[in-house]
Amino acid sequence: MSAYSELDAVALAAETSAGKRSAQDNVAACFAAVGQLDRELNVFLNTDRLRAEAAAIELDRRAAAGEELGALHGVPIALKANMCTVGFESNCASRILAGYKAPYTATFVERLVAAGAIPVGMTNMDEFAMGSSSENSAFGPTRNPWDKARTSGGSSAGSAAAVAAGITPIALGSDTGGSVRQPAALCGIFGFKPTYGRISRYGLIAFGSSLDQVSPFARSVRDLELVTRLMSGTDVNDSTCLDEPELQLEHGDVQGLRIGVPKEYFADGLEAGVRARCEEAIATLERLGATIVPVTLPHSQHAIAVYYVVATAEASSNLARFEGVRFGARVEGDGSLQGMFAATREAGFGPEVKRRILLGTYVLSAGYYDAWYGRALKVRTLLRRDFETAFESCDLIVGPTSPEPAFELGSKTDDPVAMYLSDVLTVPVSLAGLPAASVPCGFTDVGGVRLPVGLQIIGPHRADARVLCAARAFEAATTHARERAPAFAHGGAA
Ligand code: GLN
Repeated sequence: MSAYSELDAVALAAETSAGKRSAQDNVAACFAAVGQLDRELNVFLNTDRLRAEAAAIELDRRAAAGEELGALHGVPIALKANMCTVGFESNCASRILAGYKAPYTATFVERLVAAGAIPVGMTNMDEFAMGSSSENSAFGPTRNPWDKARTSGGSSAGSAAAVAAGITPIALGSDTGGSVRQPAALCGIFGFKPTYGRISRYGLIAFGSSLDQVSPFARSVRDLELVTRLMSGTDVNDSTCLDEPELQLEHGDVQGLRIGVPKEYFADGLEAGVRARCEEAIATLERLGATIVPVTLPHSQHAIAVYYVVATAEASSNLARFEGVRFGARVEGDGSLQGMFAATREAGFGPEVKRRILLGTYVLSAGYYDAWYGRALKVRTLLRRDFETAFESCDLIVGPTSPEPAFELGSKTDDPVAMYLSDVLTVPVSLAGLPAASVPCGFTDVGGVRLPVGLQIIGPHRADARVLCAARAFEAATTHARERAPAFAHGGAA
């Protein structure tokens, strides 16, 4: 029997279904890793071992009874703390939702649980998914398993660290502007943001509703495929959901594919190792049979500005529901209703969330709406058209996921714009609603520390399968994803 932390979800489910190990063994191994690593990395905001054990006992009973078993039979999974799941505290790493337990479970979580997955806990994140380092969490940052002085990225930091540290084989995050791709890159694992709408948002606590997309992390591409497929498909509770339950795998490889390389993604400002590893990755794809074509995405330089108008506008409206009446914490204030709202929001939200609510309210306000929000929507259309034009001459686009590897905790906290620029290469894809994966493509040495680099593979609208096929071909041709972080739960045989 292989060690729990060495297996991806597909292999773990297969061994568990074959009776080589039990679901209870998996939960025990997972919590052994939690015990070993959670305190130093700050991965989870809350876990529920008893609930996970009860789920495992039921799965083991089904196996013993010869019942049909799901594709994720007995696989522990970590969920981001903005995902409603009965029994867990979905507090979005915010004081305003302290103690909040959702009365229902998100559709995508239900679908994974129906396939045999076992939720073990809610992971740390930037408050309401606003941030790129998890330093906006009200509960302290998550530390990177490759170097504990550095960030795991954000906002889905805990989920990325859980997978990179071998605590769970798979985890879920949400990607609004890069929050799964960027931490995947910084933690040396795979992350995949599907086409906007592929996965129901029902039960994902909203940040930017026209951007939010549930997205998996994994240590193999086949796990990304499986988890994405299981979560996909229409949902009566989300009218923006695409009717595409199947991921139709198009190519087994990149042979004959035209891969576009945008010059804007290799502009000044890329860390040298990131540039070198991505260039090597492009050479590898060429060796595997792809044709490399230069493309241009001329409006990319406006993406961050557009994103911080659109996302903040949507956030200001989505976060209006947190006022101390219906959810979470309440502060009475001066005794009036307005005073209670104000005091609750003043005490409950952290500074970055307040900044975004203020910005978003401003750009939507009468007199400024057309100049800010209306104009941002127009530029968003230009960004989408950039991709459409580029995809006339190529099948996929590749470039770095993040301009730099994991940065030191504290190094950007005083400069919001520097933090926002972390997402300069992921945000355009989000604004266009396209599918994109981050794939480990090697390492860069920063001051004697070896840090992972991620390659972003971007596809046209609904070409999720093509992105994953290319990711799979790259994974098969390289060994980067097999390297383990120093803080990895190499544990006993269980
Ligand atoms: N880092 C970006 C932000 O702060 C993206 C966040 C996300 O994708 N949730 O908004």
